[in-house]
Amino acid sequence: MPGGDTGGDTGGEGGEAVCWLERVCPGCGALREGREDAPCAACGAPPGATD
Ligand SMILES: [Zn+2]
Repeated sequence: MPGGDTGGDTGGEGGEAVCWLERVCPGCGALREGREDAPCAACGAPPGATD
């Protein structure tokens, strides 16, 4: 499980989709790995920048 260091997230993809949705960059769609409050490594967009 690459980058699976969220701690306790072992439910696979059958439950809280919003959990990883919050980690998807709203700017470029890349999945941010590591800290969910870190800016996108691809485009530098801050987390939560939905518009
Ligand atoms: Zn991005």
